Amino acid sequence: MSDIRLEGVTKRYGTFVAVDNVELAVAPGEFVTILGPSGSGKTSLLSLIAGLNRPTAGRIFIGGRDVTDAPPQARNIGLVFQSYALFPHMTALENVLFPLHVRGINGPSGRRRAIDALKLVRLDGLGDRRPSQLSGGQQQRVALARAIVFEPDILLLDEPLGALDRKLREELQIELKGLQRALGVTTILVTHDQEEALSLSDRIMVLGK
Ligand code: ADP
Ligand code: MG
Repeated sequence: MSDIRLEGVTKRYGTFVAVDNVELAVAPGEFVTILGPSGSGKTSLLSLIAGLNRPTAGRIFIGGRDVTDAPPQARNIGLVFQSYALFPHMTALENVLFPLHVRGINGPSGRRRAIDALKLVRLDGLGDRRPSQLSGGQQQRVALARAIVFEPDILLLDEPLGALDRKLREELQIELKGLQRALGVTTILVTHDQEEALSLSDRIMVLGK
């Protein structure tokens, strides 16, 4: 687990300011939620932290290291998006194995880790199913397993429960919180849902529009 620090992080698209001078410090193991309406720059901000995009201004530090110009693969970050973004042609287990393959972790030890990650999200026995054979909640659990299987220093969650119906969302909120505690992984979740922010996190930051 690592701490995260954002200093004056700004993202402009042309003259439009999507992320405006954000200052944030997240302690190792902390669970912070960024709350803001649609269009307030939540996804843009997470993309900057993940390294999928570069800020126009400001610096990003992970574990005390300035990663502002580092590529995503140099940041050891697990990512979950609202739309599950699973590989449709791969089984659940193959989806979870993928980030391990990318990191050169193959063979029985990789397989063991992937199976354990599926167990953690309560999908034991469903590893052979393809995404189309899983419910929305189960697909999002696969996405979560895929994001944690390589033991990331940081977990970034972009409205991960937004596509689920209310009952399932509340169930998964409890599981997600338990999992985050158990793993002790530094986590930033973004959402427009105030209730979700309150029930999940240690601390909330509000983004204006
Ligand atoms: P949120 O996730 O909070 O809904 P986003 O970060 O997706 O907000 O978007 C913030 C604003 O930035 C929106 O007005 C959006 O249209 C704009 N935006 C996002 N990505 C781009 C882009 N690649 N080019 C231009 N504008 C963008
Ligand atoms: Mg968004």
